[in-house]
Amino acid sequence: MSKIIVTVDQEKCIGCNTCPLIDPETFEMDENTYKAKVKKQPETQTEAVKTAETSCPVGAISITEEK
Ligand code: SF4
Repeated sequence: MSKIIVTVDQEKCIGCNTCPLIDPETFEMDENTYKAKVKKQPETQTEAVKTAETSCPVGAISITEEK
């Protein structure tokens, strides 16, 4: 499986805290901005990271495959 890159669009994120609840290995909240950020890039596309992406209410999470 190819490597993926997860990003959180800081402009779009409304700090709802959903993604760190779904996938705490990948996401965490930034204590200063109250927005989510990537804590650790997952090695592969896990169910958790996919669920977090689709659960974000504002579509701030992107998963792209590394070329
Ligand atoms: S689910 Fe989306 S809006 Fe909510 S904290 Fe994560 S990136 Fe931000």
